[in-house]
Amino acid sequence: MKPVYVVLNAGSSSLKFQVFEASGREDPRVVYRGLFEGLGSAPHFLVKDRAGAPVAEAHWGIDERFGHEEALSHLVKWTREHRAGHALAAVGHRVVHGGTAYAGPVLVNESVLQRLEKLEPLAPLHQPHNLEPIRILHRRAPEIPQVACFDTAFHRNQPEIAQLFALPREMTRKGVVRYGFHGLSYEYISSVLASYDPKLAEGRVVVAHLGNGASLCAMSRGASIASTMGFSALDGLPMGTRCGAVDPGVVFYMLRDMKLSTEEAERILYTKSGLLGVSGLSNDMRTLRQHAPHDPDARRAIDLFVYRIAREVGSMVSALGGIDAIVFTAGIGENDRQTRADVLARLAWAGFEPDAAANDRNDARITQERGPAAWIIPTNEELVIARHVHSVVSAGKRQLAS
Ligand code: AMP
Repeated sequence: MKPVYVVLNAGSSSLKFQVFEASGREDPRVVYRGLFEGLGSAPHFLVKDRAGAPVAEAHWGIDERFGHEEALSHLVKWTREHRAGHALAAVGHRVVHGGTAYAGPVLVNESVLQRLEKLEPLAPLHQPHNLEPIRILHRRAPEIPQVACFDTAFHRNQPEIAQLFALPREMTRKGVVRYGFHGLSYEYISSVLASYDPKLAEGRVVVAHLGNGASLCAMSRGASIASTMGFSALDGLPMGTRCGAVDPGVVFYMLRDMKLSTEEAERILYTKSGLLGVSGLSNDMRTLRQHAPHDPDARRAIDLFVYRIAREVGSMVSALGGIDAIVFTAGIGENDRQTRADVLARLAWAGFEPDAAANDRNDARITQERGPAAWIIPTNEELVIARHVHSVVSAGKRQLAS
C-alpha cells in the first residue's frame, strides 16, 4: 500500500491541492492537481490528472456556508475514494510565516498551531488562511499527521547582517527583522541547480521568482544569503498587486494626511499597487503585454517592473560579491521572454551575453557560453512540500520503531 500525501495551499476563498504518491526513496510523484475556488460564494471543484486531463468537477451553486471546512471534508473523502487501497498518510501545508522559530518543516501539534497563530499579525493577508485548514483537520481528523512548510524557512540561516533592519534593538528582539519569502520556491531551485550545471550549485546565483508575487534571492552554494523581501511580503520588487519597496514615509502620509484607516492603507499596498496600480489595467503580465503597444500606462508598469528587477539584482550581486548565474522562475520568469530579455539587457554591465534564439525558444540556458549564465528553471513548490512531508513522516515512523 503506497502512502498518499495531500499538499494544500489555502487562500481566502480558494484551496489549491496536489495529491502525491510516495514510493520508497524516490521523489513523491504527483497524481492529481486541483482546486476549490469561490469558497463562501459559489464553490467550484476541479481535479486534473498528472497529464492535465480533467478527472472530477463539481459546482455547488451559491452557498455562503460552503467554506474551507466543507471543501476539506469533500477533498479527504474524494482522495480516499480515488486512491482506494492507499492510505492518506499525511497532509502538507504551505504556510507563509514560520517566524524566527522555524528554519524547516514541522509536524503540527496544538502548541505549534498556537505559535503559528501568534504570527498572524506578521502576514495578516496570508497566515490566517494558511492556518485555517490546519485547524480544521486538527479538530476533525486528528489521526492525520500534518506538516507545516514555511516560505520563510529557507532564509532563516542568512547571515545576521542580512536579516537586520537599522531599527532600535528592542524591535529586533521583538522579531522585526527581514524574513524573506518564496522560500519553498527557492528551496526547489536550489535542489535542482546541480542537475542543470554542477557549477551552479557551487556558485553565486541570483534567483528571480517572478510571478504574481515577486522577489529575488541571492544564493551562495545553494543557500540563501540575501532576499529582496523583508518583514512582510510587501518589500522588494513591484508585484502583481503589491507595491514592493516604498519609503515608509509614504505610509505615514497615507495615514496622517490622506486620513486613510490602517486597513485602507494596507489594502492599497497589498491589492491595488504593483503592476495593477501603475497600469490602472491589470495585475496580469499577459494582459499588459497585449495592451502595452498602444497603452502607455501598461508600458510604464512593465518598464518599472523590469527596471526594479535589474536594480535589485545589482544589490544581490553586491551581497554575493559577484555573480555566476541568474535563474528565472515562476509565471513571468518561466514564460515572458520579453521580461527576461529586457532584464538581461540591463545587466550587460555584469557580462551577460544573451542568446536571443534560446530565450525565444524558452530553452533552459539562454546565454552564450561566455560570461555569467542565465537559466530558465520551472519551480515546483508543491514537490518541496511533499518531500518534507515524506521525510517528516518517515522520521516519525523510524522514531516509533526504535
Ligand atoms: P504565478 O504567480 O507564478 O502563477 O505567475 C503569474 C504571472 O505569470 C501573471 O502575471 C501571468 O500573466 C504571468 N504569466 C503566466 N503565463 C505567461 C505567459 N505565457 N506569458 C507571459 N506571462 C505569463
